[in-house]
Order: sequence, then C-alpha cells, then structure tokens
Amino acid sequence: MKEMKVKDPVCGMNGWEELSYEYAGHLFYFCSTFCRDKFIDFPDLYLNHLPITKKLCLNGERNIAYFSMEIGIEPSIPTYSGGLGVLAGDTIRSCADLKVPMVAVTLLHHKGYFVQKLDAKGNQQELPSDWIPSDWLEPLGLVVSVEIEQRTVWIQAWLYEVTGQTGYVVPVIFLDADLPENDQIDRTLTDYLYGGDERYRLAQEILLGIGGVRMLGKAGYNNIRKYHMNEGHSSLLTLELLNRNGMKRNGELDYDAVREACVFTTHTPVAVGHDKFSYELVGQVLGEIIPLGSLKMLAGDKHLNMTQLALNLSGHVNGVAKKHVETSQAMFPGYSIDSITNGIHALTWSCESFIRLYDRYIPAWRNDPQSLRSALSILAEEIWEAHMEAKKILIEYVNRTTSHVFEPGVFTIGFARRSTAYKRPDLILTDTERLAQIAKSIGSIQLVFAGKAHPKDEPGKDLIRRIFNLSNKIDQSVRITYLENYDMTLGGLITSGVDLWLNTPLAPNEASGTSGMKAAVNGVPSLSVLDGWWIEGCIEGLTGWSIGSASSAQSDEQSDEAQELYKKLEQILQIFYSCRKKWIRVMQHCIAINGSFFNTHRMIQQYVLNSYFCRNQKLTTL
Ligand SMILES: *Cc1c(COP(=O)(O)O)cnc(C)c1O
Repeated sequence: MKEMKVKDPVCGMNGWEELSYEYAGHLFYFCSTFCRDKFIDFPDLYLNHLPITKKLCLNGERNIAYFSMEIGIEPSIPTYSGGLGVLAGDTIRSCADLKVPMVAVTLLHHKGYFVQKLDAKGNQQELPSDWIPSDWLEPLGLVVSVEIEQRTVWIQAWLYEVTGQTGYVVPVIFLDADLPENDQIDRTLTDYLYGGDERYRLAQEILLGIGGVRMLGKAGYNNIRKYHMNEGHSSLLTLELLNRNGMKRNGELDYDAVREACVFTTHTPVAVGHDKFSYELVGQVLGEIIPLGSLKMLAGDKHLNMTQLALNLSGHVNGVAKKHVETSQAMFPGYSIDSITNGIHALTWSCESFIRLYDRYIPAWRNDPQSLRSALSILAEEIWEAHMEAKKILIEYVNRTTSHVFEPGVFTIGFARRSTAYKRPDLILTDTERLAQIAKSIGSIQLVFAGKAHPKDEPGKDLIRRIFNLSNKIDQSVRITYLENYDMTLGGLITSGVDLWLNTPLAPNEASGTSGMKAAVNGVPSLSVLDGWWIEGCIEGLTGWSIGSASSAQSDEQSDEAQELYKKLEQILQIFYSCRKKWIRVMQHCIAINGSFFNTHRMIQQYVLNSYFCRNQKLTTL
C-alpha cells in the first residue's frame, strides 16, 4: 500500500491511500480499518485531529491575528499598493512555510489600487483594477455588522489559503461590504484601496479593525492571543477589544488586558504619514464607542491619531529597521520601540534561473534562506549565467513593451517603487550632462524606471512625466525607459534583471525599503543613500555602495548627494566593464550576506520570539 503523509484523524499516524473515507467534502486517510471504522461511526468526534483542511484552517488553533489594510497575496489579486502590502504577503508566506499559527485579515478592495497607463507625454492615467473575487477566493457564508454613521453595515468574508512549503496553511480573510442588505453608499466601502476622502478612509478602518475582530469570532477563532497591527490603519481593533473586555472593578476600561493582546508595527518615520481624524468626524462616523474622554486620553487630544492609539494599547511595538526605530523613538518619546528589520520572502522574489541554481547548490534554502550564506561557494560563471538569463528576460520585456531598444550587454540600473517626492527617482538625472559624460568615457548605461504615483500625489506624477520625457533626450549612451504599471510581477522582473539597484530617498523618510532586498537575493547589488535597511545591509564595495553617510544624509544638499552618486557610479561602472571577476564577487556577497539575512523567515522568527511571545512591556515613563 502507498503510505500518505496525511495523518489519520483518529490516531495521528500516517494514513494509507487505500484506506480513505470521504466526509463533509474532504477525503480522510487511515492507518487501519480499525481507525476508519471508528471514524465512520462518529466523524465529528475526530474533526479537531484533521490534517490541513479548510475545517482545521477555520476552526483550528490560530493564535496570531495579523491585520493589514493591504496584502500582496499574489500578483493577480490587486489589493496592494506598495511595500506595506508586499511585506504583508511575504510575512504570511513565511508563516505558512514555518507553520506559525496565524490568520490574516484585510479588506477586499473590489477595484484594487489602480492600473497605471502612461500617455504619449508621460501623464499617468488611472484605471480601476477590477478583479473577480470568486476566481480566487472562497465565500465563507459568514456575516457580521458594524455601525457607520449610525447605519448598520453588513460585512461578508472571503477566504484565501496560503499554503506553505511544509503544506501548512495560513488563512487570509478578506472583508467585503458589497452586500445587497447595505445602503448603496456603504456597498462601495471596500472598493478602492487608499481611495476616497477622510470619511471613506475612516469607514474602511472601522470595517478592518472592528469588523475584522468580529469576523474572526464569527469564523470560530476563539483562541487569538495576539492581534498584530501592521501599521496603524487597523488600530480601531483595540477599541473593540476594550469593549469586549468590559470594565474592571474600579469602573475603568481594562487597558492592560488589551495591551497584553496587541502588538504594533509602525512603518512611517514622518509625522504627516500617520492617519489622523478630527473628533468631529469620528463622532459622526464611528460614534462614541468608548467614552470620548477615554478615547482622547488614548489617541490624542486634538485628533484621533491611529498611531498613537496603537502605541498606547500595544504591549510590544516595533519599527522596521534600526534607523527607523531611532526616528520613531524621537517622534514618540516615552514609548519603548523595538527593532525588527524587514525582509522579503526569498523564494517568491528569486527569479527562475537563481531558483535552479540554489536548488542545486543549497537545497535547503527554500525553507531555510539563512543557508544562502554558502552562496560564496557557487561558481562565478554560474552566477553570471543565471544573472544574464534574468537580464535578457527583462530586456526583452522592455523591447517588447516600449519603443526603446535595450541591449543585454549594457550596464543596467533599476529604480522601481511608488513614485513620490521623497524617493527622488530623479536624483540620478540631476546633471544629465555629467551622466552622459560618465557613460561616454567609461561605458553605456541603461536606466529602467517604474512606479505608480498615488492619484492625489501631483508631485509624484510630475516626476513620472519628467523622467518619461527625458527618455529620448540625453544621449545614445544613456538610455532611459519608464515601464507602465509597476506591480509584483514587474517588480520581480526588474529587481532580478538589472545589474544595479538604485535607491535615493531623502533620509530619514525610508523606514526600511524592501526592493533592494529582492535585488540582493538575485545577486544584484545596491547603490543607495544610507537610510532604512541599507544602513544595516551596506558593506561598502562588497554588498554594494553607499551615497553619503548615515549621519550627514539628512542635512546634505541634494546636489551634494547627486555629485556623490556620480562619483560612485564612475567606480561602479569601472568595475562592471573592466573587472568582471570582482563584480561577480560582489554579486555573491549580496546573496551570502544580505539574501541570507534580509528575508521574512528570519524576520518572522524575531516577531515570534520578541513580539508575539514576549511579556507585556509597560510603557516607559518620560
Ligand atoms: C517590493 C515592492 C515595493 C516596495 O519597494 P520599496 O523599495 O520598499 O519602496 C513596492 N511595490 C512593489 C510592487 C513591490 O514589489
């Protein structure tokens, strides 16, 4: 008989394929007829011993609830806009691989973020990114309700199961307000990610935070120990928990109990990035779900500040890189903020050719990316071959989808991320004559840009136009292209297919940044301002190169940073064109030093040990 790796639900030993029995739409396998007969008599008695099935997935032991406004679960589900959502997806993928008992909650976003088109002048057009939930998700047939503007808004749930390499499943619950029972206006609340006005945003945050907690209860997750707020969008969940816990004997809300249950990750190093709502709006939309005095005490006197609310009711708070913790600590004195540096899901972001190479040299790497440290022993020629394969795929894509003609032999720089002023995609274009001079004297350069600007971010759209319109004007030796509709698929193509990853944010605005980590796992070094993760990831000349110094970056004039960028670029071009061996050495170190560390497997293990299972840390006093 052929033994299955699926457990017998009666005794927990391995089952046999021949000894199966179908119940409630699932096939179960048994070690013996003894167990099968027992099961057939009273199946429900054994249902909590199930192997990984929908049933377990829903009612089983899940201790950690992960809340995120956006999740990049897979490229065809457009419910993410950028780094925050991709990080959430990578986190969930690593949890599934490592069997971390998590359930995730997000909003459905029927029209996604948006599809970006660029017209002949480089103007961004935004088209709705419609998708059909039932193609990807399974309706759970569960509904809960919340009150918004004194109307009852019903929410239904859809399920997506992320299956890890171990076969373990992390369920992701998508909340959806598009139900016929709801007012027409409320049916649109789960349409657009980061769309609409403040009222729309607050309503969405009620659905996510309050609706999310209620839905978890409805779905039978009765054993949640930690609610993890991935950014402040979900922090209204703390109010639902406060209410649920009721009053203590002294008549106060039980803040400590909620703190024990909540952990918070902040991602925004600047004050303007935090969601704030006037109490007038809060009164209209949310109503008084806890007494206003208590709410102001927790969330701020002037506005309801979602970050402050999360900070005050979380037993563990972390920032996403060491430098980011410093800036957050300065922004929020008096709170104890820990540092857990971001990562990426190594398997997801490695391109085909490198996957094959790693599988051959480092078979354990898929579920143990730390073992990529032995990439130093991979033959240089094979690293180069794998890289050129990825590069050709990118170049073919550029040549097929744009009017530009790129060549695989030419040094290629990538810059792809949300288009917004602080990320300064145009820093390398500060002095185009100098850039052309460098290319002419050392070797040609190709620049691949991509990125969407938020529909309301006019400076972000200007940047796209500017770069787009420069693309035919500089010099034959400097080719520039701006690819449309940056998303996870394109992100994978660009981070693996370029020779150098460029990152030039205005410090200290980049909390972490993760695209450079995706490049690293594909052997692509970074040239980056010392901000976010790069302060930890940069070993000058070995994993990449820095622009400016970590301490001075903030005060530097933009033109100084541009000059330094050009200086470094000259050195880098020299190595690339005249010292290929040294170049490949750098590629190997990207993988061995950074690929092995800046991944979500390492990251989630730190969350488990330091955040999810740490004892409640009291707020430090000033
Ligand atoms: C990785 C990724 C990001 C994040 O990039 P940053 O460098 O952190 O800005 C944004 N968008 C997409 C589509 C990504 O894949």
